[in-house]
Amino acid sequence: MNNLSRMEELVGLLEKEQTLTDSEFSEFFDILADSCGEDADRRVQIREEIPAARCTQEEAILYAAARRAREKYYGSDVYLRGLIEFTNYCRNDCKYCGIRRSNRNVQRYRLSKEQILLCCEQGYSLGFRTFVLQGGEDLYFTDDMICGIVAAIKERYPDCAVTLSIGEKSRDSYKAYYDAGADRYLLRQETSDPLHYRYLHPQELSIENRKRCLSDLKEIGYQVGCGIMVGSPGQTRDHVMQDLRYMKKFRPHMVGIGPFIPHKDTPFAGEKAGSLYDTLHLLAVIRLMMPDVLLPATTALGTIHPAGRELGFLAGANVIMPNLSPGDVRKKYLLYDGKICTEDEASACGRCIELRVRKAGCRVVYSRGDFAGFKVRGQ
Ligand code: SF4
Repeated sequence: MNNLSRMEELVGLLEKEQTLTDSEFSEFFDILADSCGEDADRRVQIREEIPAARCTQEEAILYAAARRAREKYYGSDVYLRGLIEFTNYCRNDCKYCGIRRSNRNVQRYRLSKEQILLCCEQGYSLGFRTFVLQGGEDLYFTDDMICGIVAAIKERYPDCAVTLSIGEKSRDSYKAYYDAGADRYLLRQETSDPLHYRYLHPQELSIENRKRCLSDLKEIGYQVGCGIMVGSPGQTRDHVMQDLRYMKKFRPHMVGIGPFIPHKDTPFAGEKAGSLYDTLHLLAVIRLMMPDVLLPATTALGTIHPAGRELGFLAGANVIMPNLSPGDVRKKYLLYDGKICTEDEASACGRCIELRVRKAGCRVVYSRGDFAGFKVRGQ
């Protein structure tokens, strides 16, 4: 059997069973890797509107199946999340992160509650119905302050969802934010493998605690997002498979994956970035393993390739997170080098995103965009 027929078979299996055995996964990734090394003239154009959407026949089979899976739950809808990066202070020292504690070259900032509410006001008028409050682990913001900000947003915009992405906390803190009105929480595990986790993070962080946080969040009632960096230093195929198995078992509502991109002021400055193709392959695999998951085409994907996010939609993604942070702080929230969209106004971002989504054959939907079938509190 040739590679193409075998790929058809394996993708069919993944679509039906939503998983593969370890040896099938190995074969699957080998075939994809082989196909990527083949001549450019064997590539097929999968979307005329996007010149970069030329892929191997094996990839075309995979991406088509991923889009079919997405369509079953979400049609061609793409949901917008308005990202507000409200503090770049962080007590942690993750080795890959540009705003890590020990990077003295970062100009630190915090947004006030009023500034955050202004971002929401602007976002709301542009049609956003989800606000994502993201920041480093900044102890200046006490639980009471976070609860006050969440409650104020929910009071002014009761039809909007609030997502938090502020790292590891105690169960009590998570519960307090939830009671204040927070709907969703993003916390990427980055890698499930304990040794790899140790390699990427400072001594005081552990994968056990990260997983404890994720379980607490789910039990409390949040829509929870986890995810990984693709191509992070030291990552092997085994690590990726462990992560796929962990996520499949955990059943997150959202999965955020993006390529690792080095930042010049970190210990990983000289490391190679993750690849566009590996990220697209994994987006499609995640869509097939967890067909109802909310799956962003991340800014990091748009950073490693100008059409990265459009290609992400063609591989099964259905969420995008334009930046609503004030213009003067955007360049200070650089988790990695070269981050895109640090100059544009929120309204210009909105138009640009709409165009990109349409090019990929999808449509922007201005709603909360909850996980399919999720019972939202009070509704
Ligand atoms: S990855 Fe998050 S927790 Fe780690 S240093 Fe960066 S902002 Fe802090």
